[in-house]
Amino acid sequence: MIIGLTGGIGSGKSTVAKAFEALGIGYVDADDVAREIVEPDEPALSEIADHFGRHLLKTDGSLDRAALRERIFNEPSERAWLESVTHPRIRQRIVERLQVLKRHSPYVLLVSPLLFESGQAALVARTLVVDVSMDTQRERTLRRDGVSAAQIEAILAAQLSREERLVRADDVLDNDGDPERLKAQVAALDERYRHMSETNSPQEPKRS
Ligand code: ADP
Repeated sequence: MIIGLTGGIGSGKSTVAKAFEALGIGYVDADDVAREIVEPDEPALSEIADHFGRHLLKTDGSLDRAALRERIFNEPSERAWLESVTHPRIRQRIVERLQVLKRHSPYVLLVSPLLFESGQAALVARTLVVDVSMDTQRERTLRRDGVSAAQIEAILAAQLSREERLVRADDVLDNDGDPERLKAQVAALDERYRHMSETNSPQEPKRS
């Protein structure tokens, strides 16, 4: 059984994933995979360099992400081309990685900020949304990343709204509380998910 874990920036996805990991649950982070598939020696990187030009590579041969972002900014067809090259590879790598993890984990997590937006939700049996108020989200992101308030607002505006995410959630973890509360909720969810995977019944009625 694969559980999709998502939430907005700074909601606590990584923290929640690590709490599951501490209970013996394997996870794949879609952001890590998205970075991996454009590393030097990966076929996607050669395709990108052939298409956009080698000036998008840094001197060490790695992808200049900032230059690429700039290149596709306001260029929907170029963005679509890039996604046609990267998305299938990301998806395939995620699936392979989850298969390996499944051997040693009663169920596995796919952690993805864009679970609903990217179509990756199709890979999972259930979705778990980490939910926080927007004030908490702003405050924790500011403290973690030290970015400007304006940058955070831009990211928030580009992401799915809190309400849209909650409508799609099978399960919700309320992370406005302290880390102990987070752990207690993870422990309760872990028990349910273990039971579901043992009985092969991921589609229990929604709780949220
Ligand atoms: P995401 O992966 O969703 O962007 P993180 O897991 O990195 O979010 O959490 C954002 C920041 O908030 C991190 O610095 C993390 O340590 C902190 N954090 C997460 N959950 C809590 C909590 N319940 N109480 C206090 N700080 C938290």
